Amino acid sequence: MPELPEVETVRRTLQHFVLGHEIQSVEILYPPIVNGDRDLFTQALSHEHLLDIDRRGKYLLFRLDHYVLLSHLRMEGKYLYEPSTTPVEKHSHVIFHLDGGMDLRYHDVRKFGRMELKLPEEVDSTAPIKDLGPDPFDMDEKTLYQLCRQSAVPIKVFLLDQSKMAGIGNIYANEICYRAGWHPLSRACDLSKKDVACLLKASQDVLHEAIEMGGTTIRSFSSNGIHGLFTQRLDVHGRDGESCHRCGHTITKMTIAQRTAYFCPNCQKRKRKRGKT
Ligand SMILES: [Zn+2]
Repeated sequence: MPELPEVETVRRTLQHFVLGHEIQSVEILYPPIVNGDRDLFTQALSHEHLLDIDRRGKYLLFRLDHYVLLSHLRMEGKYLYEPSTTPVEKHSHVIFHLDGGMDLRYHDVRKFGRMELKLPEEVDSTAPIKDLGPDPFDMDEKTLYQLCRQSAVPIKVFLLDQSKMAGIGNIYANEICYRAGWHPLSRACDLSKKDVACLLKASQDVLHEAIEMGGTTIRSFSSNGIHGLFTQRLDVHGRDGESCHRCGHTITKMTIAQRTAYFCPNCQKRKRKRGKT
């Protein structure tokens, strides 16, 4: 699933291609992708201009003249920017016909992605955006410490909770635990202020490095002539049975809350109780 760095990469790349374009018409080929009234969706988007693309957590926000289009790629959604004359692929489900003979096509093999039209003034106050915590880049140590103190869940589970911090999925939660040096089962409430500062820095560093490298996965992103070149050097995720880059110990895995956690049992110690702050 695309996480914050992948969605950020899609945002930056799409901006380059589509900003300033007018949407001339919209075709919905697989209706469940669009939440709400689909006739209104197609009517409202006609003749709107793509003014900007923002991101909140894993959501893309296409800012138009009068509306904001929210888009979540879920497992494998991606946007294709291609000439309108290109034959439409089987898995293209929503087509935005742009001026200049180009299309922006939403492509999604598994059809889990969703999009929805909002008015600008309602974006921040309604679900799903209102339920998201800040990006790790916008989080501060004090707030994060308060959130951790109130949470007895494993730190791995805490990191995946989009209402605490938005944008972290399974891959980066594993990498962040490794970078911070905490066993993924350590409870959030057992981390000291210093530990939480370390966790926040690890989150920001891992995500920042991944954005710089264009993200880890390539499935969620494709654009004319540009395909993801993105293979980040992961320290633990998907590396069970291989050697730790830091100490040489074998990386292991376990299931925590139905998700696979990968970690180094030597480098990542379980925090048993809250230390002095
Ligand atoms: Zn290690």
